[in-house]
Amino acid sequence: MSDRTIRAVWLYPELMNVYADRGNVIALRARCADHGIECEVERLELGGDLPDDADLVLIGGGQDREQRRVAPDLARHAARLHEWHDDDVAFLAVCGGFQLFGDGYRTARGEELPGVGLFDVTTVAPPPGAERCVGDVLAETHLDGIGEVVGFENHAGRTYLGPGVRPFAHVQYGWGNNGVDGTEGAVAGSALGTYLHGSLLPRNPRVTDWLIDAALRHRYGAGASIEDSPPEDAYALGAREAAATAARERGRANAD
Ligand code: GLN
Repeated sequence: MSDRTIRAVWLYPELMNVYADRGNVIALRARCADHGIECEVERLELGGDLPDDADLVLIGGGQDREQRRVAPDLARHAARLHEWHDDDVAFLAVCGGFQLFGDGYRTARGEELPGVGLFDVTTVAPPPGAERCVGDVLAETHLDGIGEVVGFENHAGRTYLGPGVRPFAHVQYGWGNNGVDGTEGAVAGSALGTYLHGSLLPRNPRVTDWLIDAALRHRYGAGASIEDSPPEDAYALGAREAAATAARERGRANAD
């Protein structure tokens, strides 16, 4: 019987869900169950209302077409999302979702899509015809106890970090935020933004645990954490290994 519960809000699951990002929600629930923690998930679609409270917020990726529809709706929730962030609610924002949680995204057509501004990052799409950032990624995180992460990226937008965030990881293979500075994703407090699909969490249970720990602290106070961390299961290990091998063999080696 689980005696602890975390409440997650899943933003725009119908529109922001490319490359199996919904797997993050499935993996979150499964990993919570491994830890004996109940995970309630509430979905929010266009026009919906945020619940009064949450411990964790998730948003996946989407192409520019979906981002155009989501950006104005998300802007309605910006004040509440900032309050939650200030209150140390955990966030996971992937790819197009990461871009919309930054300061804004300028598309290849030159439209300025507003961002929530949780991450001090800006994203600009290169002109049509420029190379997309596509491929398997192997990166070394800067978060304690997580080490290497694997994933798959596919984005046109180039994201540049401001002084208010630190990168999530340093890319060994892959493009990362912009293909130039070696950074991947961003971390601001308990908020994690990344370009890694894959999905991310099934292949990287330590990242899942980082989010669950943050959600537990939000719900139960600073001392709360996962009690015993079960090892990564065989599927997760196998998936990590396969993804790491693909990145080493086919990925774009980072020069720095
Ligand atoms: N539309 C964005 C880009 O191409 C995000 C793509 C995605 O979420 N996969 O940069």
